[in-house]
Amino acid sequence: MKALVVEDSAINRQLLCRYVEKMGILPLQAETGLAGVDLFSSEHPDLVLLDIVLPDIDGFEVTRRIRQLERPNEWTPIIFLSALNKDEDIEKGIAAGGDDYLCKPVSEVVLCAKVRAMQRIIQIRQSLLVLTRKLDAANQELKRLSSLDGLTGIPNRRHFDDVLAREWRRALRQGAEVSIIMCDVDLFKQYNDAFGHQDGDECLRKVSKTLTTALDRGGDLVARYGGEEFVAVLSDTSASGALYVAERMREAVSLLGLKHPGSSSGHITASFGIASARVFPEVSPQAVLEAADRALYQAKREGRNRVCRAASLEVADV
Ligand code: GH3
Ligand code: MG
Ligand code: MG
Ligand code: MG
Repeated sequence: MKALVVEDSAINRQLLCRYVEKMGILPLQAETGLAGVDLFSSEHPDLVLLDIVLPDIDGFEVTRRIRQLERPNEWTPIIFLSALNKDEDIEKGIAAGGDDYLCKPVSEVVLCAKVRAMQRIIQIRQSLLVLTRKLDAANQELKRLSSLDGLTGIPNRRHFDDVLAREWRRALRQGAEVSIIMCDVDLFKQYNDAFGHQDGDECLRKVSKTLTTALDRGGDLVARYGGEEFVAVLSDTSASGALYVAERMREAVSLLGLKHPGSSSGHITASFGIASARVFPEVSPQAVLEAADRALYQAKREGRNRVCRAASLEVADV
């Protein structure tokens, strides 16, 4: 621990330094206010013992300058030691940013007691800072977890809604195109019935990973929409681009080759619906989601394991 002693009287300064040293604290000495500010700036001591009447700037001004030099989250106790002992002097000292005020002559016992009290406050403050940092980290982790789906570990629907809303605003500013892909695992109820929910869950994890891997652009996002349904948002992507991505997803799910006796292909497949829109104020993201959903059900009707695209009119009409 380091203490800055700012005092123009050499005898007082040496006496104060000796008291401080006896407490196991390293004293740094300054004879003038400006020298004190400089030393504070270079050494960042843990405590300041400050005279008020100094040959250049007074102790109040030194205090104001020290407070300006403190780094964020830094607090250095400042104890005034002065022959000025009127109530107003004490009030002025505390108002200037001081933490305690002792009238000269100061006894060693009183100085020690005051310094100990400040050390205790420093310790409490430091524990609070550590706690705050831990709390910040925990909050960040909580925020991260609250945006992920517990089963698959990919973003959940809430996070998807946030990203879509953000992406929509961005696309609106730029008049850009946004595409949405809806995906639903085919005959998944039968899969659960055949292998049980544990295997069903494992299958959903594999499918989610496959869908995520099939997206290769940084801005794209795939999320679990619910049950065995997934959704992806592709920014700056036209219908033909989305068709290409959805086809790649469909193929990747099929290539997983997860055995499914009830399926005509003999393995797990998924159906996809896509919808795209150039974003105008009249078009809502919900309208595009609904169009993608309708296209998905068309894919189901047409025999599953395929990609269907919403007619662009469907979106332009809403
Ligand atoms: P379709 O091809 O028409 O989509 O048929 P499907 O059987 O997939 O459709 P349906 O909506 O009838 O069934 C979805 C099933 O998905 C119901 C449920 O058993 C299963 N499912 C939903 N969420 C989960 C989950 O978190 N884990 C598991 N294991 N199964 C789930
Ligand atoms: Mg003085
Ligand atoms: Mg479904
Ligand atoms: Mg399904």
